[in-house]
Amino acid sequence: MKKSTRVLAAALCGILLLPAAGCGEKETTGGDENLDLSVHLHIYDYCVFDDDWAIFKEAEEKTGVALHGTAVETISSSAQAFSTMLADRTLPDIIAYTGDELKENGMQGALIPLEDLIEEHAPNIQKFFEECPEAKVAATATDGHIYYIPGTLAQPGLGNLPSMGFFIRQDWLDALGLETPTTVDEYYNVLKAFREQDPNGNGQQDEIPYFKRSGVLDDLYQLFGAKNSFYLNADGGISYGATEEAYKNAVKELAKWYSEGLIDKEIYTRGEQSREQLLSSNLGGSTHDWFSSTASYNDKYLGFGLNFVPMAPPADINGVVKEDIGRSILHGLGWGISKDNKNPERTMEYFDFWLSEEGTLLHSFGIEGKDYTVENGEYQFVPEVLNAEGGVPAYLRNEGAVVEFGAINRIEAELAGMNDLAKEGFNMYLDNGYVQPQMPSLGFTEEEQNVINAHLTDIQTFCKEQEQKWILGAEDVDATWDNYVATLQSMNLDQVIAAYNSAYVRYQQELN
Ligand code: CA
Repeated sequence: MKKSTRVLAAALCGILLLPAAGCGEKETTGGDENLDLSVHLHIYDYCVFDDDWAIFKEAEEKTGVALHGTAVETISSSAQAFSTMLADRTLPDIIAYTGDELKENGMQGALIPLEDLIEEHAPNIQKFFEECPEAKVAATATDGHIYYIPGTLAQPGLGNLPSMGFFIRQDWLDALGLETPTTVDEYYNVLKAFREQDPNGNGQQDEIPYFKRSGVLDDLYQLFGAKNSFYLNADGGISYGATEEAYKNAVKELAKWYSEGLIDKEIYTRGEQSREQLLSSNLGGSTHDWFSSTASYNDKYLGFGLNFVPMAPPADINGVVKEDIGRSILHGLGWGISKDNKNPERTMEYFDFWLSEEGTLLHSFGIEGKDYTVENGEYQFVPEVLNAEGGVPAYLRNEGAVVEFGAINRIEAELAGMNDLAKEGFNMYLDNGYVQPQMPSLGFTEEEQNVINAHLTDIQTFCKEQEQKWILGAEDVDATWDNYVATLQSMNLDQVIAAYNSAYVRYQQELN
């Protein structure tokens, strides 16, 4: 009872204003006959097109086009499902997958070029490409043709949007009489106090000050001005952080944090459930994670007064307050038209529907009346959606909404599904401009791609293994650093960096 009241209150506070959305204007397809099209959609190793997805039924009402999935869930690997599909004699009408694979297979003839169809049948896609030139560049293969319609995680033009942020136990700060840390040194001192001063009050030093679901320390490297992978450097190019002095220093510092018990001893092995485990057991002190889901724990663990709140990124060792991890506008997936499609014009009109205002709302919010309501231009999810087991995004995905294909996901819909605390965190990072520009989605030539395919996985595996040895204290950073860098050079790291840079130069030319 109490919980649902709180969530409802959050929903009412979260009424959002959207521009007039042309609701109720039915998209027409010129009175054409109804059409059945087959679609291959199998992504992220778990998300497979379901003929019963409600929003696609709704789209069928509006467009006269019914989609039927061909991918089967019995193949768990999306990559395997994709290659199995390509080996079939006849391809499905529509193929959805990663943009890189669609372009690659487009150039080999499995998909058809789309630019003329877009010109003649897709005013909404043209508008989308004008507003989001990054999308057009991403969709264009190195042979100059467009082979897929990309989708986005937010509408274009909103700047650098947050995804994750720092969270800290306000109840533990209060218990120890501490202030919210504002610098990396203060953060270290708070984590140290969490470790040593028994903020959960059970008489044992059992607190785990910093934990992280995904078992990566990227979120902490930024506090030392360091990166551990590819990033946009200040000179307008791309660098690889894991061979730089800043990274060396960060690893040394974090190995010290680890040895002092400030970082979860099981950071590399505890896995996706670590947040749930360590918050429910009143052991976890701080993390860096998605606003929406992380802000939902206080309602679940009222019993011991859990108060896990978002905080600004602590200033890094150079005094800079920033958040390196943000949201790419493009999610990297989309859909295209196969060589065996007998109705490419109708298919393009169908694709165009999804980029209309009406299609965008359907993709982002689900079905009007059933999933959300609109009053005076204000959009809000109905209580059944807001209170859904597993959260709003999971509920929507079960209907086919917010699935990654060629559609725009409105950020307002994500905010409408957040509680007040999550919104507070999201807006703190957005309004203060903490989030740094993200790496764009690059298109590689065959030659560049070959270099990357030949070396990058080995390089990343080696870096990850060495990082763990350092953090866990198995090897000394200073003693092994030169050999580490030399090994990476022998693994052709410079060639891979050069491939990224030539692709990035081309990307900037295409954008301008
Ligand atoms: Ca304790």
